[in-house]
Amino acid sequence: MIDLRSDTVTQPSQEMRHAMANAAVGDDVFKEDPTVLELEAYGAQLFGKEAALFCSSGTQTNQIAINVHVQPGGEVICHEESHIYKYEGGGIAKNSGASVRLLPGDRGRLTADAIAQWINPAHDVHFPLTQLVSLEDTANRGGGAVYDTAELAKISALCKELNLPLHLDGARVFNALAVNQMHPEAYGAFYDSISVCLSKGLGAPVGSLLIGSAEFIEKARRVRKVFGGGMRQAGIIAAGGLYALAHNVERLHEDHLHALQLEKALQDCAYIDSVLPVQTNIVVAQLKDAAERDAFIEKLKVHGILCMAFGPGMIRMVTHLDFSANDCAFCVETLLKM
Ligand SMILES: *Cc1c(COP(=O)(O)O)cnc(C)c1O
Repeated sequence: MIDLRSDTVTQPSQEMRHAMANAAVGDDVFKEDPTVLELEAYGAQLFGKEAALFCSSGTQTNQIAINVHVQPGGEVICHEESHIYKYEGGGIAKNSGASVRLLPGDRGRLTADAIAQWINPAHDVHFPLTQLVSLEDTANRGGGAVYDTAELAKISALCKELNLPLHLDGARVFNALAVNQMHPEAYGAFYDSISVCLSKGLGAPVGSLLIGSAEFIEKARRVRKVFGGGMRQAGIIAAGGLYALAHNVERLHEDHLHALQLEKALQDCAYIDSVLPVQTNIVVAQLKDAAERDAFIEKLKVHGILCMAFGPGMIRMVTHLDFSANDCAFCVETLLKM
């Protein structure tokens, strides 16, 4: 089976497994796991920040960040289709008792102008206190859309001016960095906290990093423990993350090229109405006959290709480390003859 449902389906390579099996470990709740400490130090330094915290998932890093930044009753500004709101089980309300201001925006992205309009006046007791702005880059529901760095600079300047924390759900931030050809440090300067997934395009089996100031990460470490996320000999999985950062970042452009080839093929298919312009490794297509979506997914499966339903009449395909040039050629050929 060729699995394009998500970039989370990758298998750790033999080399990665070797690194994991041989990792030096200790009790990380006592801060004694050398491999976790190495990964955290490396992640922090990469983004030009003071500290980082290794967590079990991207949902956990996002939810911890929200919990540290926001008080109960405070408000988070985010896109209406953002992962933190739509796909984290209501965690903003459940874990942090916070309110949300959901904004529309082109392909999952917000603008500084839109954000500025929804920052509540702190002196008026009617309004919840705006306490966090959270961006998603690349934007999953936006079909892997990438923020323009000029807009990021504007949003960051606005938040700094108002002393408002800015968080990045950077589950796929390395895909965005690859497109903008930016060093992670440039993004580190825009944000107060950054969540990075090691188990998406980077191919590690488990784990995410939360990155920020030393003071922020100290608070985050306490929240991680409260959320049940303190892990013991976690170096075994952190080693997969270190391996992923060392070996699987430079190659992301290959996934982007494969996604462009799928986009091109889909554009030539009579049964496809439109495809969101591909920017990274996510391809979102709209079928002409929306009612045919599930039947189409089943038919594709019979041909050995898995993709995901992504809304009414919509499908999503995500390219990744375990999707080869040969797999891509086979998919193009199959899509064209269906
Ligand atoms: C996958 C993803 C996450 C985190 O998901 P986990 O499965 O909890 O690791 C967060 N944000 C976005 C945009 C994602 O795609």
